[in-house]
Amino acid sequence: MLNELKLVQPTTLYEASKALTDYGESAKIYAGGAELLLLMRQGLMQTEVLVDVKKIERLQRVTWNGNGVRAGAGVTHRELATAPLIREQAPALAFAESQVANVRVRNQGTLGGNLCFNDPHSDPGTVLLIHDATVTLGSHRGERQLALGEFYIDMYATALEPDELLVEVKLSPLPAGMKSAYVRLHRYQRPTLGVAAATMVKNDTIEEARLAVGCVGPKAQRLPELEEKISGTKLNDARRIVVDAKNYFRDLLRPVDDLLGSASYKLYMTGVLLGDALEQTIRAGNGKQAS
Ligand SMILES: Cc1cc2nc3c(=O)[nH]c(=O)nc-3n(C[C@H](O)[C@H](O)[C@H](O)COP(=O)(O)OP(=O)(O)OC[C@H]3O[C@@H](n4cnc5c(N)ncnc54)[C@H](O)[C@@H]3O)c2cc1C
Repeated sequence: MLNELKLVQPTTLYEASKALTDYGESAKIYAGGAELLLLMRQGLMQTEVLVDVKKIERLQRVTWNGNGVRAGAGVTHRELATAPLIREQAPALAFAESQVANVRVRNQGTLGGNLCFNDPHSDPGTVLLIHDATVTLGSHRGERQLALGEFYIDMYATALEPDELLVEVKLSPLPAGMKSAYVRLHRYQRPTLGVAAATMVKNDTIEEARLAVGCVGPKAQRLPELEEKISGTKLNDARRIVVDAKNYFRDLLRPVDDLLGSASYKLYMTGVLLGDALEQTIRAGNGKQAS
């Protein structure tokens, strides 16, 4: 049973941030409630005031701003999976969103809730990293922008200040000709591992690559050294390089054993799935559907 709760329904970012300031630690932002209500029911989080952000119109839109996509923090996983703009400009993100949990969580849960909760076993952040995503954080004091990689601090920890909200996520489209893929491994609903890749390929050679891994460590991460190493290689060599990169993954990602898999299994599978994701992007670049 939940205690009686006060529900505040601001219609502007300013009002929402003011409510967080006025009620202090007793208030929590409430978006879809997929995580929040679960934690409250299990007694893992106490709160007296829910600041419901679903009436803040700016958080609910997916728009094109001339050079990139803006996805409001309140947009649901299902909306992102099906939005024509996302399918066109960031197809790997649309696919990742379509894989989140189950239809109930996809209809209820929002992009903002997912990124702000920062459970390590999440999908969207990994793909957003290959789109050089930035986040807009806002409060009654103003707004600021951060790269997604800087927003993520550690598992369940982000750069949000107590009076701040995540307002929107901006994604850059991939350069013309670059193809992307997202591959995930799961035994239960939450992913054990998720990898995102994007490549620009000429004459079967990878000219430029972007790689990111999620779920293995405390937060999703880009793999800049590996991106460099596989540039100029063909698929078979790139596969060998990523499979051999276990020490690099271990140092960068700091994997732990958990209920979803052992650290060594996750490290091994990271190389395998990155190879599969690279193959998908290269096949797509050659005009073939991924197998
Ligand atoms: C059974 C289950 C399976 C799942 N499987 C997956 C999966 O396969 N892949 C995956 O990626 N995720 C998975 N998830 C996580 C799911 O995606 C998140 O629960 C969901 O996206 C959270 O969104 P929400 O709107 O419900 O957030 P809420 O529960 O409303 O909020 C979550 C947290 O974020 C804060 N918050 C929310 N919005 C904002 C904002 N705009 N600004 C600042 N703080 C904010 C809240 O205060 C709270 O602390 C799963 C969850 C469940 C319950």
